[in-house]
Amino acid sequence: MTTDCIFCKIVRGELPSQTLYQDELVTAFRDIHPVAPTHILVIPNAHSSSVTEMGDADGDTLGRIVAVANQLAKQEGILESGFRLLVNAGPDAGQVVFHTHFHLIGGRGLGPMIAR
Ligand code: AMP
Repeated sequence: MTTDCIFCKIVRGELPSQTLYQDELVTAFRDIHPVAPTHILVIPNAHSSSVTEMGDADGDTLGRIVAVANQLAKQEGILESGFRLLVNAGPDAGQVVFHTHFHLIGGRGLGPMIAR
């Protein structure tokens, strides 16, 4: 945990958030600026700046992130219609919050993955 990271503060309950799920490994909450009817962030509770810092040693956490994302997709009614689970890493991807997070996005047609 870091003291000034906004997502660490959400994990600790020090910043308001629409938290949908939390356990000992991960936290999921609604994105403050949703790009689709469902836009949820699923994050590891332990601080890492980017997914590039995660790997084999984080298998339990990464597996839990996928399981929680699937469960939330089901709850949101988008398991069958489809969704994206994506990570932005670094400047070219437009990462702006430097605590690893997975975006769960769906509830409308999302178009091509990357604008050409
Ligand atoms: P990224 O570009 O992948 O770093 O995306 C960061 C995401 O965090 C953006 O979609 C923001 O809208 C979202 N965000 C930033 N601050 C908050 C917050 N306090 N609560 C919820 N979502 C946030």
